[in-house]
Amino acid sequence: MTVPKKLFIKTYGCQMNVYDSERMAEALGGQGYVETQSPDDADMILLNTCHIREKAAEKVYSELGRFRGLKDARPDLKIGVAGCVAQAEGEEIMRRQPLVDLVVGPQSYHRLPELEAKTRNGDKALDTDFPPEDKFEVLKNRPKSKRAPAAFLTVQEGCDKFCAFCVVPYTRGAEVSRPADRILSEARDLVDRGVREITLLGQNVNAYHGAGATGDLTLAGLIWELDKIDGLERIRFTTSHPNDMGDDLIEAHGTCAKLMPYLHLPVQSGSDRILKRMNRSHTAESYLRLIERIRAARPDILMSGDFIVGFPEETEADFQATLDLIEEVNYGYAYSFKYSTRPGTPAAERPQVDDDVASERLQRLQALITRQQRSAQDAMVGREVSVLFEKPGRFDGQMVGKSDYLHAVHVKDSGAAVGDIARVKIVSSGANSLAGERV
Ligand code: SF4
Repeated sequence: MTVPKKLFIKTYGCQMNVYDSERMAEALGGQGYVETQSPDDADMILLNTCHIREKAAEKVYSELGRFRGLKDARPDLKIGVAGCVAQAEGEEIMRRQPLVDLVVGPQSYHRLPELEAKTRNGDKALDTDFPPEDKFEVLKNRPKSKRAPAAFLTVQEGCDKFCAFCVVPYTRGAEVSRPADRILSEARDLVDRGVREITLLGQNVNAYHGAGATGDLTLAGLIWELDKIDGLERIRFTTSHPNDMGDDLIEAHGTCAKLMPYLHLPVQSGSDRILKRMNRSHTAESYLRLIERIRAARPDILMSGDFIVGFPEETEADFQATLDLIEEVNYGYAYSFKYSTRPGTPAAERPQVDDDVASERLQRLQALITRQQRSAQDAMVGREVSVLFEKPGRFDGQMVGKSDYLHAVHVKDSGAAVGDIARVKIVSSGANSLAGERV
């Protein structure tokens, strides 16, 4: 009997990287690899990296350095770097860190089996191309196994927006939408494997414009096609740009029962002066009016956002405009970060805000968001929600799942199995989750 080789993947960054890591594990599954939770017994270690944070590359180099002992003890161990840092740094990674055997960019990971074979021959393997073949097609014939009930499905990659702080257009390339028939067949396959909720992923997902049977489909068109799949109960999508929220997508939030009432719609700043410098192509006012229209279509929708605090040249007045916008929107959730320079982006060259000032602003913004988030959660107490159960909880009979609004919900004596969807009455609200009882 052949002993399977062990693969340890460490994933950084966004959900798209989580999706990519799953595909990489499937690609290497065909080479006899099974996943392991620890690098200590792995035959291959892959770091699936993210370039969104400052000094991302430096952090990858220091993480790689920690594997030196393992490589010294087991020279056959293969170490690879994938994702956006691999794309940005390329060959430089192997030059600076000779421990690395393999470097693969986000558009080439379907070529992992060939690259892995190359490393087994003692060669270094590098692929940071934007290859002509469709990586999703190449990967679709990999071994299939039962899946967790909630899954990600990439429908679109890359971005043409060129926000002044963002590396995505450089590391993931121009915007490309996958053809609808391939997405639908992947979705059907996921449902056959036990998936009941699919989150459609894309760096600018609502710009989706993939070929359908009778012409290009918008994201709303794709959602309506997915809506027809029996067994698929919930649809979500992330991450969206305000300028690509088409009328049909807003309307779908009001009319498509499978489209969940949660929308992540980043605005980044509430100051028009800063939005212009960010090259966001929308204003605070246009964003607020958009949210009004979305809430008119689906009044109970839970809004989530992204904020960058301390963007170059941000004044106290600019920051106050951001706080005002947050007050007006009333978010159920938000991600917020202090601006950090990303080499190669236009904003990296501009006068930076003092770090202490930016830190203090971030604290104020996060205090406001936390208050809003907490009150959105508290407002759920006494309400009935539907919960998709994803895993057993810490206590006997307890199950943990997600509500339609994406809140984590713990249910005691649920009598439910993983993958069940049930009505739950929310009885209390904790720091980051809700507790409920089956109705
Ligand atoms: S829209 Fe999003 S992915 Fe595209 S450049 Fe702006 S921040 Fe980056």
